[in-house]
Amino acid sequence: MPELPDVETFKRYLDATSLYQRIADVEVRSAYVLKGISGKELARRLKGRRFESTRRHGKHLFARTDGGTWLRLHFGMTGSLRYFKGEEKAPPHTRVLFVFAKDYRLAFDDQRKFGQVGLLEDVDEFLRKRALGPDALEIDLAEFKENLAKHRGAVKSILMNQRLIAGIGNIYADEILFQASIHPATQIACLGDKHINRLFAAMRHVLGKATDYRADVNRMPMSWLLWQRGKGGTCPRCGRELKSSKIGGRTAWFCTHCQKGASSG
Ligand SMILES: [Zn+2]
Repeated sequence: MPELPDVETFKRYLDATSLYQRIADVEVRSAYVLKGISGKELARRLKGRRFESTRRHGKHLFARTDGGTWLRLHFGMTGSLRYFKGEEKAPPHTRVLFVFAKDYRLAFDDQRKFGQVGLLEDVDEFLRKRALGPDALEIDLAEFKENLAKHRGAVKSILMNQRLIAGIGNIYADEILFQASIHPATQIACLGDKHINRLFAAMRHVLGKATDYRADVNRMPMSWLLWQRGKGGTCPRCGRELKSSKIGGRTAWFCTHCQKGASSG
């Protein structure tokens, strides 16, 4: 499921491939992913325009056209982007295809169709309406502490709450908590200042590094948890078998030896 590092990678990919080209056509192959707009209307409003810049907030990506309208992309569970030449085959689960004048194409591919494509006029207004918290790579330590202090619950649920901090999902939440040596079920209220500082540092480190690695797991260090997440996985630090449990409706993977609740360690 695309999280901040994945979406930042899509942003850079779109920047590197698709800016400043005239949009000749927009082909909607599955209107299911369209939000608040018809395929016809999407094509009408984008045809003849160019994408001029992009912006990312949490897991949302926005591309501004020279007409001032923003294309909004959310990648759901399986969304991705692919840029290719007209004669090549489109990716198998292409839902929306942006056809550029020189016959290059940008496909929004999304097997499971939880992704979203829409248009909007004002990104800040959209973020306010969604009540999204600050982006996880932009929030500073003071605001991080303040947002966490306002809430109760397991630290992992808090990290994944997009209204508090935008961009973190299941995989990176587990990684951040592993690297901060904090058990995912720890109640946020039990975390002292030292732990919160460590959590913040781990969040910046993990998301920053994962973005540097272009969200490609194969490039990430073997010392990271994400290689081992799953049944039979072992802790990269101590070698003990990883445990799992449902926290906030999602499966958390962790090492009970290396990750402690604040009270126990
Ligand atoms: Zn361990």
